[in-house]
Amino acid sequence: MTTPDDHALLRQAIALAAKAREGGDPPFGSLLVAPDGTVLAAEHNTTLTDQDITAHPELKLARWAARELDAATAARTTMYTSCQPCGMCEAVIQQAGLRRVVFALSNEQLLDIRPGSGRPPVPQDGPALLDEVRAVVEGYYR
Ligand SMILES: [Zn+2]
Repeated sequence: MTTPDDHALLRQAIALAAKAREGGDPPFGSLLVAPDGTVLAAEHNTTLTDQDITAHPELKLARWAARELDAATAARTTMYTSCQPCGMCEAVIQQAGLRRVVFALSNEQLLDIRPGSGRPPVPQDGPALLDEVRAVVEGYYR
């Protein structure tokens, strides 16, 4: 459940989404917030101005957290985001060790607003050449 405090921070994320739109980028914005409500970092989508398909605000914040915060601090943050993280960002959020995301618009609701914005899954073939790849990977992780 979201709280009035959550809603105040979500409004900041939505304001960042509006800023992205005003700057010519897709309308998405996100914040990373400490347990006491301090905004640690804020980003908006810059996929067009940066010509970078990965320049989603959630991904930029997760990378920032992994680089700038220790694991215990990262785990206590909350990401507030104008739209539910896409699959790419969700994976990076998990990799960064973040533990809570609060979003305004769900991915399903986004698809209602912008039909056709979903991407089909990419076919993957494998596993293959197991002995060869195992020789490179085994022993690395202890
Ligand atoms: Zn994303």
